[in-house]
Amino acid sequence: MSEPAIGVLALQGDVDEHVRALERSGARAFPVKTRASLAASDALVVPGGESTTVIRLLDRFELGDPIVERVRGGMPFWGTCMGMIVAARDVAGMDQKTLGLLDISVRRNAFGRQIASEEVELHIEALGTPAFPAVFIRAPWIESAGPGVEILASHRGHGVFVRQGRVLGTSFHPELTADDRVHRYFVGMVNAARSG
Ligand code: GLN
Repeated sequence: MSEPAIGVLALQGDVDEHVRALERSGARAFPVKTRASLAASDALVVPGGESTTVIRLLDRFELGDPIVERVRGGMPFWGTCMGMIVAARDVAGMDQKTLGLLDISVRRNAFGRQIASEEVELHIEALGTPAFPAVFIRAPWIESAGPGVEILASHRGHGVFVRQGRVLGTSFHPELTADDRVHRYFVGMVNAARSG
């Protein structure tokens, strides 16, 4: 099978790091800024950044509805940090628009100011050993999740890595470490979707 084409939403955030990690993981990856580049993608990654800004930009670039349509039609999607906020059903305690791709409620900047940024050794059964070096930057956590959502890892008592069918969300930033196991996990999901 040829390499899957994975778009990385490039309205804001750490796009290049994701593109490089996906390319190391057996995919062809490129930035997505237009409906045409979205249409050329087998899957989409939404990186970290500022969720309120990106929600506005998605409207302006007319990308929100096409993304929702593609994901409803089975396109694999992975949101990291801000990307998971954008994908959530709602944002706890805030009236913030989201795309509603994952049946979770997220709390923004949930780990507090003192630990605005930290790297922890996260045990993730789906990735095996060793523990995963998870970088959290002003990260959200999962406040609650619907029954169809699988919690793949937790930190400080809250879900930080979830999967619902072909949609993945991480509170942390796997693109900022040299450990590509989450990217390989996602590329595996994309290949399974293409062959199934
Ligand atoms: N704090 C940001 C937000 O709430 C997310 C941070 C990140 O993506 N690193 O939008």
